[in-house]
Amino acid sequence: MESLSSRIEKVTPSLTLAVTNQTKALRAQGEEVYGLAGGEPEMDTPDHIKQAAFTALQEGKTKYTPAAGIPELREGIAEKLLTDNSLAYDPKQICVTSGGKQACFNTILAMCEEGDEVILPAPFWVSYPEMVRLAGAEPVIVETTRQNGWKITAEQFEEAMTPKTKMIVINSPGNPTGAVYTEEELAALGEVALSEDIVILSDEIYEKLVYGDAKHVSMASISEELQNLTVICHGFGKAYSMTGWRLGYTAAPESVAPALAKIQSHTTSNATTFAQYGALAALKGPQTFVDDMRAEYDVRRQFLLGRLQAIPNIKVVEPQGAFYFFVDCSELGLKSQNLCDKLLTRYKVAAVPGIAFGHDASVRLSYCTTLDVLNEGVTRFEEFCRSH
Ligand code: PLP
Repeated sequence: MESLSSRIEKVTPSLTLAVTNQTKALRAQGEEVYGLAGGEPEMDTPDHIKQAAFTALQEGKTKYTPAAGIPELREGIAEKLLTDNSLAYDPKQICVTSGGKQACFNTILAMCEEGDEVILPAPFWVSYPEMVRLAGAEPVIVETTRQNGWKITAEQFEEAMTPKTKMIVINSPGNPTGAVYTEEELAALGEVALSEDIVILSDEIYEKLVYGDAKHVSMASISEELQNLTVICHGFGKAYSMTGWRLGYTAAPESVAPALAKIQSHTTSNATTFAQYGALAALKGPQTFVDDMRAEYDVRRQFLLGRLQAIPNIKVVEPQGAFYFFVDCSELGLKSQNLCDKLLTRYKVAAVPGIAFGHDASVRLSYCTTLDVLNEGVTRFEEFCRSH
């Protein structure tokens, strides 16, 4: 067999997937594992969404669609952006994708190439650096601090910029930290981007999961100039508990949108046809599921916050969005992978090592699991921390 391409040699496998596999292996041996490593809501997809996909199947909606998606869904997404985010997009600017992941990858592939740099604030979602490398570009990691709520500042952005900078990725609400940028913070970052025409990939997949006084603001809604410099990457998985449906979308400037659809037309063709009808029902149907889920997650978030704050040798920032805590474990003196291995094998708690997100002194705990599992999991996590 010929050797693999240098492109793929540069890419590291997903550490989050590795944790899932280890957990499965332990469970297969009959062990009870408290899973705090998940990245998806544990609830089932609402019935009216499933029903819409069943109906589409029964009606024979089983053929290719246009690469950018069925017109009704593109219109529905444009309406959503207008209603929720006060953003005017023509449906032509929307491309329905096979998940938020494809939305991000299409964007990076369409905009970046050899010689380009992409600024990634760390901690970052695992896939961004690898997507940048797959596109032949260089990730430029900018460390954020717990003290600043794990958010990049305009000054840091400016300092990291070089003549090669092509793009910055902003993920708010963020995975793994739950950080939510304020309008002022986004405006300051946007100003820096505008000064050098840096494209902004704004990953807003956790938009619906914000808590307390925090408010989701779309980077594109700050000003028309920023809308023209931003590609919104979004998805249905987290808000409607549809991760396995693989549905997301991009909303892009007119000059960029056709390129995103073009990539898709030569790779996956279109998001699964009958699934697109489910997404349409998600947008058009009652939003009570989203509100109930957010309320439920807020209860868990506050529960976990109280428990984690009571552990003396770790540090947490109150997350304002998504469904994760990024716990600073530097006082324990362990590398995150080692820490998670011990936590899993000895205490039967699954967590994701911070190294996966570019921060080796932390672990990510997620609260997309029941309060009972959270309670037992955090009790064991506390025992583990106190024993170090
Ligand atoms: N963006 C972020 C920040 C995520 O956390 C995820 C999934 O975990 C995605 C994008 C991809 O989501 P999808 O499952 O829709 O591809």
